[in-house]
Amino acid sequence: MALLQIAEPGQSSLPHQHRLAVGIDLGTTNSLVASVLSGESVTLPDHDGNHLLPSVVRYLDTGDVVVGAVARSFASADAHNTIVSVKRLMGRGIKDVAAFGEILPYQFEEDQGGMPFIKTVAGSKSPVEVSADILKVLVQRAEETLQGELVGAVITVPAYFDDAQRQATKDAATLANIKVLRLLSEPTAAAVAYGLDQKEDGVILVYDLGGGTFDVSVLHLNKGVFEVLATGGDSALGGDDFDRLVAEWLAEQANVITAMTAGLSRQLMELARSAKEQLTTADQAWVNLDIAGKEVPVTISKAQFNSLIEALVDKTVRACKRVVRDAGLSLDEVQDIVMVGGSTRVPLVRECVEKLFKRPLHADIDPDRVVAIGAAIQADVLAGNKPDSEMLLLDVLPLSLGLETMGGLVEKVIHRNTSIPVARAQEFTTYQDGQTAMAVHILQGERELVEDCRSLARFVLQGIPPMVAGAAKIRVTFQVDADGLLNVEAKELSTGVESSIQVKPSYGLSDTQIADMLKASYSFADGDKEKRLLREQIVDADRLVAALEQAIVVDGQALLSDDERALFESEMALLKTVCDTSDARAIELGVERLAKVSDDFASRRMDLNIQRALQGHSIKEIEEIS
Ligand code: ADP
Ligand code: MG
Repeated sequence: MALLQIAEPGQSSLPHQHRLAVGIDLGTTNSLVASVLSGESVTLPDHDGNHLLPSVVRYLDTGDVVVGAVARSFASADAHNTIVSVKRLMGRGIKDVAAFGEILPYQFEEDQGGMPFIKTVAGSKSPVEVSADILKVLVQRAEETLQGELVGAVITVPAYFDDAQRQATKDAATLANIKVLRLLSEPTAAAVAYGLDQKEDGVILVYDLGGGTFDVSVLHLNKGVFEVLATGGDSALGGDDFDRLVAEWLAEQANVITAMTAGLSRQLMELARSAKEQLTTADQAWVNLDIAGKEVPVTISKAQFNSLIEALVDKTVRACKRVVRDAGLSLDEVQDIVMVGGSTRVPLVRECVEKLFKRPLHADIDPDRVVAIGAAIQADVLAGNKPDSEMLLLDVLPLSLGLETMGGLVEKVIHRNTSIPVARAQEFTTYQDGQTAMAVHILQGERELVEDCRSLARFVLQGIPPMVAGAAKIRVTFQVDADGLLNVEAKELSTGVESSIQVKPSYGLSDTQIADMLKASYSFADGDKEKRLLREQIVDADRLVAALEQAIVVDGQALLSDDERALFESEMALLKTVCDTSDARAIELGVERLAKVSDDFASRRMDLNIQRALQGHSIKEIEEIS
């Protein structure tokens, strides 16, 4: 798993010869191919003039493979052999896809690598093969239209796609015999289509509501460099859900809920979709239900439709707010809002988003083509047709990185969702007098305690000059480079002693693990805070007791009466027992008490030390003079 991926800048090549390259939007519902023709990026239609290729593949027992609208029409009649929404399965393990079992009607089987295969009449098919079959159709369409062989393609993926999902997409391209010039994130592609990359800098929110998924991304553009600041959304929300609500409503109107059959429900979904699409441009939509051979006409108004979908649209608006907050921004800092996905044609969707940001949206480019159009522009650059432009896409750190501090606590040095490359330094100090070494323990995760985070590496900084506790200054620098490699360096500032280690934080974590770690950090947040507080109090208590014990050894003889010594000892013993009670407040009070009773001793020590220092000073001066 590496959300820490970066795409390399464009490699330039021969500038004069126009090299054929395409942008491909490999979507969950629909896929498209686009190319730059005479300076303009356009999507390429099939023989019948359709630009959108439904991302549906049907396997026949003859070995034939049917892709697109025809395959889609068999989605329910031949469900086992007709693969829809294969994008959801890309790069997933068999355990992940088991969860889709309820939504997707396939029979899965596992290969040795734990990869899921779908059983069809034409044999078992991996998600990579199914995606390759979609890509082949698009590539063929492009080569026929452009009349030549392609040098490669830019294929878009959701911004949140992890390493395995990206790799699976690349594998599909290899299988389809197409060179991947780059995988580009979908929101970046959309921003490029609107030419937003030409701006000096800016903050862009991309709202992508497709058939079955909702993605929202916040991008930061700085001097031609795009960074994905944060992503969010809902992988189970899209236009299909609008259809479902309308279908239910239609069924109620026609009084057929009790007589529901599979065929009728399919018919209702199709009519609902048609009604929904009509309502994008009209105030009323008419549909004719065919119930047991009898025609039942139903009318639905735009107002009715809006009230059906209102709650879902509201959910997307709330997700926008959350992602903007995750990016560390306020709503008015978002300068451009780009609308992507067929479902953003729904007027209510546009109204609500516009109302949230209080500014006009970028919605002029066909929302289901905009991603492919942007990808083609990028492909044109990468193919070497525009050698001097280059665009860099940066990603974000999926989980926070931090260090273990006293008491088994984690101090976060770089927070999750920080874009990479990044470097952050933090200063630490020694805990004990005369401490000459410090253990550096690097952790990944969102929780407060070491045992709840993932240990990445440990090393020891040796050779710290002996000083009193708290006097040494150790700067620990975390640096994550563009390839996602973490380098941690610890340096004692007064002597320059240093030590470092390189770790790869993303290695070995699946995205489910990452999701689990994030989920745990939210659900345990309150308990974690309490635990942290308790540990901090215990650390304080230990520190005070240790310091006092040390002081008694050094200056007790000279400065303490027997009574005082006995008082300190009983108070220290009391504090130690309180520490075992897990009562943070009681420990805090105990610390305050001990600090108070030993306060006078501390100031007497201070006086004594000043006297000693002055004495030492004068002796040295005398020596120098003589
Ligand atoms: P994906 O990104 O998931 O492949 P798309 O961006 O192609 O999906 O969006 C498909 C969705 O857009 C479908 O739910 C479809 O019904 C919806 N859609 C397409 N045209 C319209 C329209 N005119 N009005 C409302 N919804 C539409
Ligand atoms: Mg899409």
